[in-house]
Amino acid sequence: MLKKTKIVATISDARCDVEFIRQLFDAGMNVVRLNTAHQNLDQAKKVIDNIRAVSERIAILIDTKGPEIRTSSKGTAFKVTEGTEVLVKGNPGGESCEGCLYVSYEGIVNEVPVGSSLLIDDGDIELSVVDKMPDALVCKTVNHGTIKNRKSVNIPNVRINLPSVSDKDRQFVKFAIDNKVDFIAHSFVRNSNDVKEIKALIDEHNSPIKIVAKIENQEGVDNIDEILDHTYGIMVARGDLGIEIPAERIPVIQRKIVKKCIEAKKPVIIATQMLHTMIENPRPTRAEVSDIANAIYQRTDAIMLSGETAYGQYPLESVQLMTRVAQEIERVLDPDVNTNIVRINNEITATLARSAVRACTSLPIKAIVVDSLTGRTGRYLAAFRGKIPVYAMCYRENVMRELALSYGVWAEYMEPRDSRDGFLSHTITHMVSQGRITLDDMVLVIGGSFGPSNGASFMEISKASALVVNK
Ligand code: PEP
Repeated sequence: MLKKTKIVATISDARCDVEFIRQLFDAGMNVVRLNTAHQNLDQAKKVIDNIRAVSERIAILIDTKGPEIRTSSKGTAFKVTEGTEVLVKGNPGGESCEGCLYVSYEGIVNEVPVGSSLLIDDGDIELSVVDKMPDALVCKTVNHGTIKNRKSVNIPNVRINLPSVSDKDRQFVKFAIDNKVDFIAHSFVRNSNDVKEIKALIDEHNSPIKIVAKIENQEGVDNIDEILDHTYGIMVARGDLGIEIPAERIPVIQRKIVKKCIEAKKPVIIATQMLHTMIENPRPTRAEVSDIANAIYQRTDAIMLSGETAYGQYPLESVQLMTRVAQEIERVLDPDVNTNIVRINNEITATLARSAVRACTSLPIKAIVVDSLTGRTGRYLAAFRGKIPVYAMCYRENVMRELALSYGVWAEYMEPRDSRDGFLSHTITHMVSQGRITLDDMVLVIGGSFGPSNGASFMEISKASALVVNK
């Protein structure tokens, strides 16, 4: 295991050859993200086929568009300066021209009150709504720039009645299920109903695909507890979050969300602009390195790259740098800090996971070994963010890949065994042959009763050689 913190890298069809993906994987990438806002189904299929040609161990995450508003794709770009009046109208097919901007959402004039701000193109241009006409918002430009077609429009603190799941999202969810993708990261999740809507689509097809809720506005932040009750994991999507909410509040929100995810034993990803300047430069800024370090100090499961790997000039260097920063910070992390905040909820698996991670602070244990049908034991162990690597032997390939998002877990697929001794003997022999442990090392095993199982039920600590039959 190169490092415990997992890396999610965004890859586009424009650069997704097998060798490129292999290099990123070897450098420490665990999960590939496909951003469907910029891809169609054929393009996404090409990326997925190439990922699978590299390794079955790389998890794939499809990021939906969600309820977004954009400037129309028709008409001409136009310049604005401070104070310029712009009429904003809702019509996806409208042709924008000097002083008249069409946006994709028809309800915009009705739903956006005077006094609101429209933030265009990731917040580069701000329009302030000063009046309303029957068919237009009358806006004054706050700062100069050029308003172009198909750019993002954020309207902080205004509840827009767009459906959570767009038609394109539905197509992509079906596509993700058909192509055995591991995660759907759903954009602009505002409450538990938004999660349930995607979940219902997945359940219709009996798919094991897991949902990652992207938190990117104030409503999502406010409803984080109910969202956590229904989602598999969380992404702190700082790109939109930093437009919807004043930027100085993002570090506090990030920290709070990471803590809540650890308490709930759910994976969390910190996303966006972690190495933004490496899109064009071979070296990061010192502040970017500190941002990655800070996320790891806060105990995130995963960190994410977007443009850096999707179209940047230094994708491999970006992944390599993240890996090096993770290695450096993980070395100095306090191993015992999280064992009290994780919720146990009277669960045997959580109690065993806590005991295991605590035991590793007082005994020279080299590895925690688990067998896993659903991945739960691996995820629970990850929540305690221990120092000792967790080796999860999974009986399903999708479970192995799901654990690609969990801190400190190395997951592998194995054929189901019918006895505890058979599982242990095979696993320990395999780990020794890979050079992960020696027969003299002390290991900790968490397992369940083989046969009809109710999950993890025992914990054993011993010398590895004692677990191998016929050694
Ligand atoms: C973000 O806003 O930070 C994000 C990850 O979402 P997207 O890149 O889809 O805008």
